Amino acid sequence: MSDGAQNLSRRDMMRIGATGVAAAGVGNLPVLADEQAAADKLPKRRYGRTGLEIGWLIGASDWTKELIPRAVHAGVNYWHKAQAWNAHSFPRAIKALPRESYYLECVVDRVNGDHAHGKIDEEQHYQFVKSRLKDSGAGYYDVFKFHFGYHSIEEAKQNPGMVRAFERLKKEGLVKHLAISQHHYNNIGGDMAWEILHYLADHQPYDATQFFHTYGDRKEIEEWIAVARKHDIATIAMKTMGGVGRASHDPKFKKLLADPKYHGTTPAAAMVKWLRSNENLTGAVIATKNFDQFRENTGAAISLAMAPKDHATLSLLSGYNKGLTCLLCAECVSTCPEHIAIADIFRYERYARDYFDLDRAQKEYAALTKNGTSCAGCGDCLPACPQEIDIAAKLKDVHRLLG
Ligand code: SF4
Ligand code: SF4
Repeated sequence: MSDGAQNLSRRDMMRIGATGVAAAGVGNLPVLADEQAAADKLPKRRYGRTGLEIGWLIGASDWTKELIPRAVHAGVNYWHKAQAWNAHSFPRAIKALPRESYYLECVVDRVNGDHAHGKIDEEQHYQFVKSRLKDSGAGYYDVFKFHFGYHSIEEAKQNPGMVRAFERLKKEGLVKHLAISQHHYNNIGGDMAWEILHYLADHQPYDATQFFHTYGDRKEIEEWIAVARKHDIATIAMKTMGGVGRASHDPKFKKLLADPKYHGTTPAAAMVKWLRSNENLTGAVIATKNFDQFRENTGAAISLAMAPKDHATLSLLSGYNKGLTCLLCAECVSTCPEHIAIADIFRYERYARDYFDLDRAQKEYAALTKNGTSCAGCGDCLPACPQEIDIAAKLKDVHRLLG
């Protein structure tokens, strides 16, 4: 797997330092301040067997219109949720480029219900992609992505509708590669994400996979990333910033972070560097609200190896997250006699407390058929949680926040 960051010479780093790096309140962390100096510096990695060389940070169609041209300039060339763009909203900064120089991912959802209850329907998925292409004028999508993924290995075996829709579109030259973002479904009697991904690697033509991954994650995810590399399947981490948003705004955490041993990095930068240090991981989706966050993330992504201060900062964050931040492992879910989608509820809490997107969090929470008020307080879930979260108490707290 290539990695443009490894090719950054010392001279490159000095040049960036001399012309375009500002401290921006984070000590000596390289933070891109000058767009000219930052041009195309984002590391690139090979998107598995597709052979595409993609910028390590994944762009998103919901980034602000001010951020997108700067991200393009820095080397972001893979855009997920691109089906949201129509001819009017398709950013000029991307559209003006040769079509083969950027990659658009079309997210395809189940129909007639949400990701837990909706259906796979070949014809409707096929028509959906065609209609999005017609509206956007994009010509084709590089990647067709099954959003949220299969409920179980059994469903993947029995229902080929997504793959067939992809194959029909591919024959017509409207899509090129097949991807999946796989969630856990043990709350509805299904399988864990990595179980499904291992099955798909051996039996189905998925070229790329997305899954939750953050510092302190369970080992099965790291194992999946290594196995995917052997199959030459791309791997993109999502929900990567576990606890970073809330910690960065918590005065108690900030006080601890003032210790000189953490100087020169930030929780976000350390997380980015940690993710990027996994050579098997193709890229990362990192929620980005503004250019300051983008340049902090990009500055970290072009940095060299993790330093002791980065390890120390992640260790501090990990301690802070204990008992507080759900890492979305879903281990607790199958223990709940009420079949509450605990990990989904805490994912929405992450939208609110880590990404500061209360609107989205409240909307998602409102759509649940069963929310935190169904918790009987039995405590059956407690021993399962590696984060030692008092789940019943947290469900109440989250209901107050989102209900
Ligand atoms: S305490 Fe609540 S969330 Fe936990 S297992 Fe019991 S009912 Fe489910
Ligand atoms: S509450 Fe604990 S066990 Fe449940 S998903 Fe979150 S981290 Fe995992």
